[in-house]
Amino acid sequence: MSSIRQKMPEQDPRKRVHNFSEVTLGYSEEMAISEAERCLNCKKPRCVQGCPVEIDIPGFLSKIKEKNFQEAISLVKEKNNLPAVCGRVCPQETQCEEVCILAKKGESVAIGRLERFVADWEAENGLKSKVKSLKQKNPCLPRVAIVGSGPAGITCAGDLARVGYQATIFESLSEAGGVLRYGIPEFRLPKGVLDRELDYVRGLGVEIKVNMVIGMIKEIDNLLREGYRAVFIGTGAGLPYFMQIPGENLNGVYSANEFLTRINMMKAYLFPEYETPVKVGEKVAVIGAGNVAMDSARCALRLGAKEVSIVYRRSEKEMPARLEEIHHAREEGIEFRLLTVPTRIMGNAGRVEKMECIKMELGEPDESGRRRPLPLQGSEFEMEMDTVVIAIGQGANPLLLSRTPGLKLNRRGYIEVDKEGTASLKGVFAGGDIVTGAATVISAMGAGKRAARAIDRYIKQTT
Ligand code: FAD
Ligand code: SF4
Repeated sequence: MSSIRQKMPEQDPRKRVHNFSEVTLGYSEEMAISEAERCLNCKKPRCVQGCPVEIDIPGFLSKIKEKNFQEAISLVKEKNNLPAVCGRVCPQETQCEEVCILAKKGESVAIGRLERFVADWEAENGLKSKVKSLKQKNPCLPRVAIVGSGPAGITCAGDLARVGYQATIFESLSEAGGVLRYGIPEFRLPKGVLDRELDYVRGLGVEIKVNMVIGMIKEIDNLLREGYRAVFIGTGAGLPYFMQIPGENLNGVYSANEFLTRINMMKAYLFPEYETPVKVGEKVAVIGAGNVAMDSARCALRLGAKEVSIVYRRSEKEMPARLEEIHHAREEGIEFRLLTVPTRIMGNAGRVEKMECIKMELGEPDESGRRRPLPLQGSEFEMEMDTVVIAIGQGANPLLLSRTPGLKLNRRGYIEVDKEGTASLKGVFAGGDIVTGAATVISAMGAGKRAARAIDRYIKQTT
């Protein structure tokens, strides 16, 4: 057994900044087996508690050690409907891998990479896991409506289909997947991988209806009256925040949401095949330091920008992005301007030309527990700029919430639920970013799973 973690093969940074192909290339069979052999098979495994969808981690690692990849992926899929997605984008370092016993003295087992390996292995070999699903589009089964096809909605629908419900997802956009489709770029999560996992969920019996804006085409109340026994709301947090500084309305200033949607859903990443306009120019500043900011900065590079900076008001320690994304962004030459806040965006003939910033220092911790950034008087300076992308967070889209009378919201505007996802209206459940605010794929999936159990109990009790 080696105590050294298998390194992930990756595209060379000098090459990959010119293409949108996947950065990480995946383990070979030999690498996967060596990595799985690092697992100590603990009597009381802690990693499972770190996984919101409760995968039998030691179980699937043992199957990899035995070279039984098919059983490994079947075990994973018993709990996780999106293993190739999670293996790529979960912040494992703060989930299952954080509590892995090996992380105490060195590096944890690369659980996420192994999850990706078995999911990809199955697809590459054209195989299908034996996963029980009690239904296949049977009109007599109790029906449940799911609003939103992000990770929360997909998980809730998939889990309900497995236990005998006709789960129908209503998605407002033209394609399913939520942020996995319109936010996370191709070089981190190829659309083909997402499509493959969505097909698997459809194969469980889930129906996905796109171009269905609930709150506009029909309302939650209509769904319940049409015979859906329960409704799960997983509409995410897709409303971008702005900084409220002068100049945000200039041409060349994008919200990250718009920037990434143009690139992903409207396929600007396939230029010149698709001609979606995303003009980035030579110098791009991205405001913020979460995953959304890293994705925007790395996309800007791939669209031809020469200099891309991340502008962040706190220090490196507080950056919320996954460690791997920060590491990859640095390797690709993204500049980090930390302890810096834009105060004004200036333009010429309606287009961005420069940005005024001020330097910050860190004071006492604020309510988030992170040290509060305070402006350093007299430290103002200007940066020349062609494009500014604002990636400082998103909130709840108010459309559906405002059209659902009686649905209780918290003071931040998110849906109030109990720990199982039950909302204030009878038969209505919710989970994912629309409850927690912008969080992670796996926390949304965990919420979808808990809600599916609560919906099953609710329907059984009210039948
Ligand atoms: P979403 O994924 O937002 O899905 C909600 C869906 O509901 C959308 O498809 C939306 O169109 C639909 N919808 C909204 N309103 C309606 C309506 N009225 N009617 C019908 N449908 C509606 N997390 C990670 O763990 N790792 C990462 O690497 C990572 N990177 C990210 C990168 C970006 C660019 C972004 C934006 C987020 C990232 N996140 C990441 C966060 C993660 O993607 C989200 O926390 C997660 O997708 C939330 O899932 P959800 O199902 O709650 O909502
Ligand atoms: Fe870890 Fe995420 Fe996989 Fe769970 S789903 S085992 S948290 S990588």
